[in-house]
Formats: sequence, C-alpha cells, structure tokens
Amino acid sequence: MSDADPVVELADVGFGYTSARVVEDISLRVGPGEYVAVVGPNGSGKSTLMQLMLGLLRPDSGTARLFGEPAHAFDDGARIGYVAQHASASKEMPITVREVVRMGRYPHVGFGRLSAADHRIVDQALDTVGMYDFADRRVTQLSGGQRQRAFIARALASDADLLVLDEPTVGVDAESVDAFYGLLESLHADGITVLLIEHDLRAVTEHAARVVCLNREIYFDGPTDEFVESDALARAFGTAMPVGGDA
Ligand code: ADP
Repeated sequence: MSDADPVVELADVGFGYTSARVVEDISLRVGPGEYVAVVGPNGSGKSTLMQLMLGLLRPDSGTARLFGEPAHAFDDGARIGYVAQHASASKEMPITVREVVRMGRYPHVGFGRLSAADHRIVDQALDTVGMYDFADRRVTQLSGGQRQRAFIARALASDADLLVLDEPTVGVDAESVDAFYGLLESLHADGITVLLIEHDLRAVTEHAARVVCLNREIYFDGPTDEFVESDALARAFGTAMPVGGDA
C-alpha cells in the first residue's frame, strides 16, 4: 500500500447470509488516523459491516479493500488489533496479561524466541495501557476494563495501526469506561486508526470524530456534531428509538 491508500474502502457493498441482504449499497472510506464510530439498532448489520471491512466476510456485490488490498486477501494481521466484547473475552485461556501481550510480537518473530527488544516492546505496551503492575495476573482474574486494556496492549505490541473495537465497554464499570476512552483518545492522537462499534451514544458523541449510522444502509456518515444535529438516528431506529441514550 502507499500512504495515500485508505485504511478501509468499501464500494457499493452488499451482503446477505441467506438470500436476504443484511447490508446494501455501502460505500465508505476510512483514512489513516481517523476515529470512526459505527452506530445502529441491534441487528442493523454493524458486526457484519466490520467483518466485511476486515475481509472475514466477502461481499456478494461491490468491493472491500483493506490497506489498499482486496480485504479477503489481506494477510498482515499484525497491523490490525481486534478488541472483542468483554463477554467473549471470558472464553480466553487462563494465561497471564504478559503472555497475552507477548502474543502481539509472535507475528514478528515467527516461531523464533522473543528478543530483548521484543520484551521491551511488551513492557512498553503494558505501561502505555496502565497494566504493568498487573502483568503477572491471569486475564480471567481481571475486571472487564482491565481485560480490554490487556487486549489493547497486545495490539500495541504487534504495532497495529488499526484498532477495531466491538462494543468494548459492555460490562465495564462506569469509571473504567471514561479511562478506557481516554486511552483510546491518546492512541488516536498518536496516529492509530480507530474503528468502534458502540451502543453508548454518549461515548460516541464525546469521543469519535466521525459517525457512521447504519441500518442495512447508511443513514448518516459524517462529522459527529452534524450527526447530533441530524435526524439520522431517529430514522435509522424507526420505532426502535433507544430510550436514555443507549443505542
Ligand atoms: P448488529 O451487529 O448491528 O447487531 P449483525 O451484523 O450482527 O448486526 O446482524 C445483522 C443481521 O444479520 C441480523 O438480522 C442477524 O440476525 C443476521 N446475522 C448475523 N450473523 C449471522 C450469521 N452468521 N448467519 C445468519 N444470519 C446472521
């Protein structure tokens, strides 16, 4: 890829698990260093869209490119840090935080041993997310917020320049949520591209610069302040308009 390539580029993408289309007519580009939140009702296609972006699903129509390459053929997984929901993280093996973060170096060393430099990168990543003191804890013993930090540290250790987060603060207590978004903001300020599926509209409007509002099709794609002023959310949710700010 060249520096001018978008990180993600979808052109006229349509996809259905069966004959019915789950997403349709999706065109969007995410440039390097952007911070984009994807919002929409349950079942509106957010996770499907993310998987199309990452090449985990192939479009039935249109094209999906990742870092300038066809998304399904992209194979440099070290560039992508994926942080799943807390609930699915609980199925991780009972290994320590440091071991999780070391995994981020494996793509760089193949089956070889980690060097002293690799270990320094691991320590640095632990420090950046504020988990250095918890390095020897098992991930199964962490709070939801700590666990998400550990997985972000793994992405940092692997030099990921795209972070993809799927409702990362589900099950995370309120104080940790603010700290978590503070961390994301500082990583974004360092140049990492952030793609966030989020149900917490307060977090979206406070932190993301751009919102993509989805319900099978794109109802809105633009700056967050314009999204707040628009009626896109009401239109996308229809009668399923969220109460109390949660999407
Ligand atoms: P969201 O993330 O917005 O909740 P999803 O992308 O998970 O939405 O789902 C969009 C639609 O696709 C829903 O109707 C869901 O039931 C359906 N769907 C999701 N995953 C699958 C699957 N693996 N097989 C069949 N249908 C699916």
